[in-house]
Amino acid sequence: MLRFRSAGSSHRGLVREGNEDSGFAGPYLQLVADGVGGAAAGEVASATAAYVVTALHLADPTADVLELLARSVESAHEQLRAGAAVDNARSGMGTTLTALLTDGVRVALGHVGDSRAYRFGDGELSRLSRDHTFVQTLVDGGAITAEEARRHPHKNVVLEVVTGERPSRPDLVLVDLVVGDRVLLCSDGLTDLVEDDRIANRLAAATDPEAAASALVDDALAAGGLDNVTCVVADVVEGPRLQPDGLRLGAFADPYLVVDPAAVRG
Ligand code: CA
Repeated sequence: MLRFRSAGSSHRGLVREGNEDSGFAGPYLQLVADGVGGAAAGEVASATAAYVVTALHLADPTADVLELLARSVESAHEQLRAGAAVDNARSGMGTTLTALLTDGVRVALGHVGDSRAYRFGDGELSRLSRDHTFVQTLVDGGAITAEEARRHPHKNVVLEVVTGERPSRPDLVLVDLVVGDRVLLCSDGLTDLVEDDRIANRLAAATDPEAAASALVDDALAAGGLDNVTCVVADVVEGPRLQPDGLRLGAFADPYLVVDPAAVRG
């Protein structure tokens, strides 16, 4: 059986007035959500998605991992639609959502948008998620290289987010992780500014997830801090068998963390 030992760090950056990212780092669930919509309450959208996924997981920790993530994305859509219905200013709000969920045996990735999930194992960094962006479609079609995508004028055009306006089409896949792997979930405030080589070096060198998350956020700030930046880092470790009567919050040494914009540095 496996579980995660994880930590998260978030910063509003050096340019933006608020932090619209949210995140969660727990023994069986990691997630990052990057709110979009500016004045239309991006931080409400990302926090809503983060809480929906987390609440459904904690209520049913032995659920099928793919089914629970699918249900979470649908529920987040419903909650955002309800939120927009009572407050017109929130009608355009949306959020990315990248989540890794395990039941101790299988690990599922649920992904919408341009936040990312990476695996670092055997000294190699590999990407677990595929950006739902215009430039990624150009890369996939062979029109531009990944390096050209980084500097493309339309690199921030995101094709799929979780909104209240229509159901989204998440990527839902099982991923192979083994004890000893380290995973990173992050918002584009990291990956727009910090190269993969640097990310790999940080993940390799940090003694624990907290140090890795903190170092990566610092790298984004040192590179200009142009956007909110959130990093959740998790080590895959041996874990106990999950009990169907629910997760006992006191059963784990490391705390559950919701990366709440109001509660973190910056
Ligand atoms: Ca962002």
